[in-house]
Amino acid sequence: MAQLISGEMPKEASASVVKQHAATRASLPFSDTRDFDDAARGFLGTREHARIVSEGGRVVWGLEPYDFLAEQEAPPTVDPSLWRQSRLNMNHGLFEVVPGVYQVRGFDIANMTLIEGESGVVVVDTLTSIEGARAALELYYEHRGKRPVVAVIFTHTHTDHWGGARGVIDDAMLARGVPIIAPDLFMEHAVSENIIAGPAMLRRAQYQFGPFLKKGPRGQVDCGLGKSMAAGSVALLRPTDLIKATGDKRTIDGVEFEFQMAPNSEAPAEMHFFVPRYRLLNLAENCTHNFHNLLPFRGADVRDALAWSKYLGEALQLWGGKAEAMCGQHHWPVWGTARVDAMIAEQRDLYKFAHDQTLRLINHGLTATEIAETIRLPKSLDGAWHGRGYYGHIRHNVKAIYQKYLGWYDANPANLDALPPVEAGKKYVEYMGGAEAILARARKDFERGEFRFIAQALSHLVFAEPDTAAARALLADSFEQLGYLSESSTWRNAYLFGAQELREGIPNAPARPPMPRETVAALRTGQLWDMLGVRLNGPKAEGKTILLNWDFSDTKERFVLRLENCALTYTEGAQAAQADASFTLPRTLLDEVIARKATFPEAMAAGRIAFTGNPVKLAELMALMDEFPRMFEIVEPKKTVVT
Ligand SMILES: [Zn+2]
Repeated sequence: MAQLISGEMPKEASASVVKQHAATRASLPFSDTRDFDDAARGFLGTREHARIVSEGGRVVWGLEPYDFLAEQEAPPTVDPSLWRQSRLNMNHGLFEVVPGVYQVRGFDIANMTLIEGESGVVVVDTLTSIEGARAALELYYEHRGKRPVVAVIFTHTHTDHWGGARGVIDDAMLARGVPIIAPDLFMEHAVSENIIAGPAMLRRAQYQFGPFLKKGPRGQVDCGLGKSMAAGSVALLRPTDLIKATGDKRTIDGVEFEFQMAPNSEAPAEMHFFVPRYRLLNLAENCTHNFHNLLPFRGADVRDALAWSKYLGEALQLWGGKAEAMCGQHHWPVWGTARVDAMIAEQRDLYKFAHDQTLRLINHGLTATEIAETIRLPKSLDGAWHGRGYYGHIRHNVKAIYQKYLGWYDANPANLDALPPVEAGKKYVEYMGGAEAILARARKDFERGEFRFIAQALSHLVFAEPDTAAARALLADSFEQLGYLSESSTWRNAYLFGAQELREGIPNAPARPPMPRETVAALRTGQLWDMLGVRLNGPKAEGKTILLNWDFSDTKERFVLRLENCALTYTEGAQAAQADASFTLPRTLLDEVIARKATFPEAMAAGRIAFTGNPVKLAELMALMDEFPRMFEIVEPKKTVVT
């Protein structure tokens, strides 16, 4: 105990953690090692440590820091099931799925799938970064010979599936119009999911993925879906061919693809496909080797578990008994019709079970935390490795389902208007008899392994008295033990990063770079006004009225932008007669300004913007805009007062 409290940091696992890991070892089918065979099957070659270096010499990806995972036996500080998944995600290189279909895995959190046609190759998903995608394609060429990329398919809208497109499509191919195939509404969702709440999501994502944690048995070991987030350059390319309906087909370079739409599942726009020539099924990110997230910790629009399950059921109806191999855009494939069909059926039932049982318990009156405590997966699903909660987890996925149907309120008026953390913390500490009394009890409970409640109680103390070192230290120790206990990588990362911030403070992170021009260009003009609206500082805008006309010469769009009642609104397709000022400019120039490649005053001085009225009104509006910090406090009180 004394050693745990005062020893080096990060600390060792407590006795109760070691005991729980032993129970996990006894209850899960560790002797079933087929996944290890599957994850290594068809290996053709790789690069040392999957290391990818940018043109400027920066390492954007590399698995060397994870060498500690060579150890087969999990250390006491990592859940044995998560350790197993972390080791599986260490496989990297080019793999043959079936002759003619290949995957590059472990070069990014996501996979690139390569499907050969008569003379060329179709690239399915292009990883997070241009550097990563280029390296993946080069590796494929080394082993399969050079052949032209005849089409690119984006399975869905998350960046790790399209960010590197420019690494496989060069200028000449773009000019030739190489097909880029994506699900309907791809552009509408590719960036919008992360825009309005983007600054907060990026900070919260640090807790989900753990990029500031050291990699190691007491730090970050995995992300569940893959090792970690990739760095490198990202560019969004506009699809040229949208798949609109289930049953749509395309023949590319002599190979037929049959598509299935799966909107509002793992991503707002997502699709599956089957390739009859290779008897290959690809269910994108909806049937991978983990229980996925219905609501990631970074924050997102909650996902639809019922729809997700139905798409998997439909996939089975469409292609059951037909697929010899199934590969996803994360993790490793499975082979054999019976195993493919069984996995799809189990994943279908996993999402349906979570959905239906959550709703059943809701209708019995249970709240989200009560449901998380009550629900248990059936033995048949609990023992399926691909259903384990390495990324999502049943205990937070049920809360997402609750949120989807009922929202944040548990209907108990005691929680209707709760005091915020600092005020509540001060009252709790007072009621509980002060810091010393709380710490004395918490130390005893620590020995008993009651880390969940200690974390709650000490969080009140840290919010009431952030400078009480003993409170911060014991809260950090409790978070750390909870991290060691977690099977879900996202839980582990969240707890361990919380511990680290309590001990060391918030890491120094460089200022956030401006949004890349190509990303800005992908947004509709209305979305840009919406982004501006959430930056408006309401209190500063008190009593101000500003009316601006906008006329975009290239897109032929016209807008009235209006500040009134401390709210920024717009009307499309109109111009106001009494506007303070009117601006005429190409939309591309507005993109340059947002990407900080140009400024408004310079562009006006250079004659790139025509205007009438009083342009100072625009400067007045922009002076009311907040800049959002890259970092803010999460496990302790805000140091800056925000109004
Ligand atoms: Zn992904």
